[in-house]
Amino acid sequence: MTKASDAHNAVLDQVDRLAERMVSSLADAIAVPSVNPKYPGQDYDKVVGAESDVSALLADLYAEAGAEVSTVTAEARRDNVCGRVPGTGGGRSLLLNGHVDVVPEGSRDKWHGDPFRALVTDDKVIGRGATDMKGGLVAAAYAALALRAAGVDLAGDLLLQGVVGEEVGDHEAGTTAMLEAGFTADAAIVCEPSGQAGTLPAVVPVTPGLLWFSISLTGKTAHSGLRGMTIHPTLEGDALGVNTVDKFWTVYQALRALEDEWARHNRHPLFPPGYFNLLPGVLQANPSGIFVPFFLADRLSVEYCVYHHPDRSNEEVIAEIEARVQDACKSDPWLREHPPVFEWKLLWPPYSLPDDAPLNAVVAGAHAIATGGADPLRAGFMGVCDLTWMNRKGLDGLVYGPGVGYTAHAENEYVEIAQLVQAAKTYALTAIDWCGLTDGA
Ligand SMILES: [Zn+2]
Repeated sequence: MTKASDAHNAVLDQVDRLAERMVSSLADAIAVPSVNPKYPGQDYDKVVGAESDVSALLADLYAEAGAEVSTVTAEARRDNVCGRVPGTGGGRSLLLNGHVDVVPEGSRDKWHGDPFRALVTDDKVIGRGATDMKGGLVAAAYAALALRAAGVDLAGDLLLQGVVGEEVGDHEAGTTAMLEAGFTADAAIVCEPSGQAGTLPAVVPVTPGLLWFSISLTGKTAHSGLRGMTIHPTLEGDALGVNTVDKFWTVYQALRALEDEWARHNRHPLFPPGYFNLLPGVLQANPSGIFVPFFLADRLSVEYCVYHHPDRSNEEVIAEIEARVQDACKSDPWLREHPPVFEWKLLWPPYSLPDDAPLNAVVAGAHAIATGGADPLRAGFMGVCDLTWMNRKGLDGLVYGPGVGYTAHAENEYVEIAQLVQAAKTYALTAIDWCGLTDGA
């Protein structure tokens, strides 16, 4: 038996031995209501601080795993934590990164109980953050604990990170602050959820681009009794009044047609057909200052969330969306004279790890060893993640982590315990095969 396979077997045994404790550490992490204080609808001053409590909990696990622990704080009361298990030299370094913030609980009455009190069943842990992504953070920490317990000395450094701010794309306070403070490596695994119900985590080398924007329309108000005169162009038409709710369908249909085109012609092998989409998620229209339908609505705003193909730049997609809407508006005299106003609110670039990057094979191999030979699924990421911002700092990686993707941000979010164990095993084996073992140990 080779030295690497001895080390593999020893850490696999240790993860199994630690599994029960890993579940209780996850329950402890869920009990900290670390809602992102900048998430829409939050009272910043009331909420800020809990992210640091999760970082402190992780710091204890990192220290127990033999890591040197550092805190990086770019915004007051929002601590990022990094543990570095120093290698003995000569190996590649690996970073396991995850975010400590969670989204708000949503509708409390749709939960099994308190969303911030984990419910542990035979096969699941249910609670806010179980999937997104305290499960991944805890699995990474337990991979390091298993390596320590198995007496494995790595040649390269193993870095473990818990960062704030991810849920609103606030990477300057989180991942980017951490990398700028020097806590970086030769490759990264972002431990975000990459599984689905009844599966094991997939290897996810690609994330879509995400755009959030609003479109505002201006109309002309008039008494509701005059509607007939305004909608039939042969009568008074726009000269008397313009209802923005009617005008919106021009915008809606233009973007809906674009969405169909993307589904037919803009496919990616790791994403399901139709995944790239334009979601009109918020629509508000009313007569200025009043919310009764007795006047034509002279104001309208709609907000869209867009996921686009990873091979296309944000700039290219923004230009396409604006051009489609402007073209459609040319056929409407009012919209031609009063064009929709765009506001681009969040621009998250896509990320792709090159197919020939060595990390792909190392993680896939580690996954297969831990399952007794089954290769992992390969998939695109359902949302966006910090890989984008890591790439801006010269660090490449992929997503692999425990979780049931569709429960992220939902009520009764849960993670499967089998996925937690698998992720911890894959991380530990990846560390051995990526960072190398110490010569002569
Ligand atoms: Zn997440």
